[in-house]
Amino acid sequence: MGSQANKETLGFQTEAKQLLHLMIHSLYSNKEIFLRELISNASDAADKLRFASLAKPELLEDDPNLKITVDFDTRKKTITISDNGIGMNREDVIENLGTIAKSGTAQFLESLTGDEKKDSQLIGQFGVGFYSAFIVADKVEVFSRKAGVPADQGVRWESSGESDFVVESVNKADRGTQIVLHLKKDEKEFAESFRLRGIVRKYADHISMPVMMVKEDFGADAEDDKKIKKGKAPEYESVNSAKALWTRSRTELNDDEYKEFYKHVSHDFEDPLDWSHNKVEGKLEYTSLLYLPSRAPYDMWNRDTTRGLKLYVQRVFIMDDAEQFLPLYLRFIKGVVDSNDISLNVSREILQKDPAVDSMKSALTKRVLDMLAKLKKKDKETYQKFWNEFGQVLKEGPAEDFANKDKIAKLLLFSSTHTDDALQDQSLEDYVGRMQEGQDKIYYIASESHNTAKNSPHLEVFRKKGIEVLLLSDRVDEWFISHLIEFDGKQFQDITRGELDLGKLDTEEDKKQQEKADKKAESLLKRLKEALGEEVAEVRTTTRLTDSPACLSIAEHDMGAQMRKIMEAAGQAMPDFKPVFEINPEHPLVEKLDTEPDEDRFNDLARILFDQASLAEGGQLDDPASYIQRLNKLLLNLIQ
Ligand code: ADP
Repeated sequence: MGSQANKETLGFQTEAKQLLHLMIHSLYSNKEIFLRELISNASDAADKLRFASLAKPELLEDDPNLKITVDFDTRKKTITISDNGIGMNREDVIENLGTIAKSGTAQFLESLTGDEKKDSQLIGQFGVGFYSAFIVADKVEVFSRKAGVPADQGVRWESSGESDFVVESVNKADRGTQIVLHLKKDEKEFAESFRLRGIVRKYADHISMPVMMVKEDFGADAEDDKKIKKGKAPEYESVNSAKALWTRSRTELNDDEYKEFYKHVSHDFEDPLDWSHNKVEGKLEYTSLLYLPSRAPYDMWNRDTTRGLKLYVQRVFIMDDAEQFLPLYLRFIKGVVDSNDISLNVSREILQKDPAVDSMKSALTKRVLDMLAKLKKKDKETYQKFWNEFGQVLKEGPAEDFANKDKIAKLLLFSSTHTDDALQDQSLEDYVGRMQEGQDKIYYIASESHNTAKNSPHLEVFRKKGIEVLLLSDRVDEWFISHLIEFDGKQFQDITRGELDLGKLDTEEDKKQQEKADKKAESLLKRLKEALGEEVAEVRTTTRLTDSPACLSIAEHDMGAQMRKIMEAAGQAMPDFKPVFEINPEHPLVEKLDTEPDEDRFNDLARILFDQASLAEGGQLDDPASYIQRLNKLLLNLIQ
């Protein structure tokens, strides 16, 4: 075979080309990972064959022992990684090695900064896989034959990693894939026994099948001329422990081994923040190894993104991305679950209906929540990293998993008036510990941005009384708090909602003052209501303010601004919103307003105060030009 007619040269998909280029230029500081990536792929291919052979044992032919082999040739400067796994046919090769099928690749590439150091971390999360071969090689050849097809249906792929690749049909006697790396001039040091063994042990010890290399005392490499001339065939030995990592006991494993295994299952380059490895025996028997990544993937908010654990049944790989074992709000968790109770020929549909899977899901959910609780207790700094990356996802928890609401609540971090910066680092327990005597609510304000929340006039009275308020500015906050309802028996109270009621925190004096103010302002309120008309639901005096003349609040059962925006963005028609306009009768501007005899000037000033109150909440004016005109009219009066 291998006739010229079969040979075609094809261009890489644009995204693939860009990624190749970036990779070659930004991963130079961590070159050796190419071997991890290629062995990882070989191991996945063997896993897939093992699974396929459950239904079709003939796929294994007379070669049932799955293994990976790493060869090298010092003189030719090549490294060859072979597996007897599932293999690829011509279409597979073109599809898998010429394009990047991951959703959101184009956006991902756009998000790269051009700063090589930063980009290499991003690329790491993206998972570079096969293309990492081009970090060390200037030519890569792939020979592959899919399990179950005859030897003459092999395929050869070749590329120098620039703009195109060649594919042609070839004969390949053995099933599986062989990847030949022609090393760049400067990288020939990799084609050496000691170096390669070191890398394999470091990165592939946990791979569940043997990684074979030529015995060290055999000679320089498998192609050692003298020995081959003497008719001696190279002898191979396994370089790794070839035992699925999660089947080993916790005491036997060190941190580095856990970390390497994480990189294999997650395709992440960075170390995980934490992990939890557990063997469960009893009614259900399974082992789980769950990892907390250190960085959110670029596509965490993409609805179509694959997620979930790698599922094994009795050590046999069944599927990637088994999403039935964890709720959506823990979708950032990576890892493995190996069950003894699920049938080997399970499908995604069956998983969905299997009650064993349901109980595993709730147990694994608890494991993750416990892991997070422990981490929060023992290592604040690491927990903060987790929160900064995944806090927003965890906030989906109370709505999705009401049963675990209290556990989730303990994991939350907020920014508040207690601290100066925007960092979310205060827990609800911290808040409750600082509550004032007589305080029975957890106060919060939810705004567009941290600064708007922090500077809201609504906080004035809370500052005066030294009452802490949580400052919420994540998009999901208002929605998520509405599902959280309470913590430690204390209800959450939006400080911009309803009439301010500080309960026992209001002194007798406060109440008296309010009554006095109400009386005094009676006629002013009436005039204001007339001036603002349909724009407001109500006009009233307030004790919320100490420095500002006025503010807007939301009627008790109205939807807040954040929620309204989310609903509108989702295409929901929202009823017209009317805020409550609250004035501070002690403020000189308000006092001035009360004594303003000229109806036009009264109207102008009233409108200005109303618009300003809206601006202070981060709101947008319906008619900003009129606001400016009115304001300038007053300013002109000042200077004339
Ligand atoms: P990923 O492994 O993240 O999917 P890669 O770029 O590493 O991305 O590989 C792309 C695809 O090529 C794999 O998903 C797999 O289908 C195929 N592939 C790569 N290496 C092998 C191999 N040794 N045997 C069979 N298929 C492979």
